[in-house]
Amino acid sequence: MRSKEDKTAVDLHFYITSLLRVQSTAIIKECHMLRPRKIKRYCPSCKKHTIHDVDKIKKKKASELKQGQRRFRRVTSGYRGFPRPKPEGREKITRRVGLKYTCNVCKKSHQPASLRAKQFEIGEKK
Ligand SMILES: [Zn+2]
Repeated sequence: MRSKEDKTAVDLHFYITSLLRVQSTAIIKECHMLRPRKIKRYCPSCKKHTIHDVDKIKKKKASELKQGQRRFRRVTSGYRGFPRPKPEGREKITRRVGLKYTCNVCKKSHQPASLRAKQFEIGEKK
């Protein structure tokens, strides 16, 4: 059993985190990311700046051998497995957007670290 003091501590924790979240939303506010279809950037294999095609990374089916999938299988096995209740008050306001850049000269592609954005679009500015 959880004592009353514990519960108030947890409530306070959520209150503080919610305050912080409000501040962060104020900072992010208009987080509409627009990326062009073609961009000039550094190619690690050509070792110079070339024109790249920008693509959004599609989510692939998770491999059963990956650590995350193994953990998921272990945690959700047995009683109280799946589906689980979603954690309340901890939703994220932004989504992670992965981008793939394909070099037009050597046709090699590279994926730098993904960014977070509220809205994301690839195309020309209207
Ligand atoms: Zn290249």
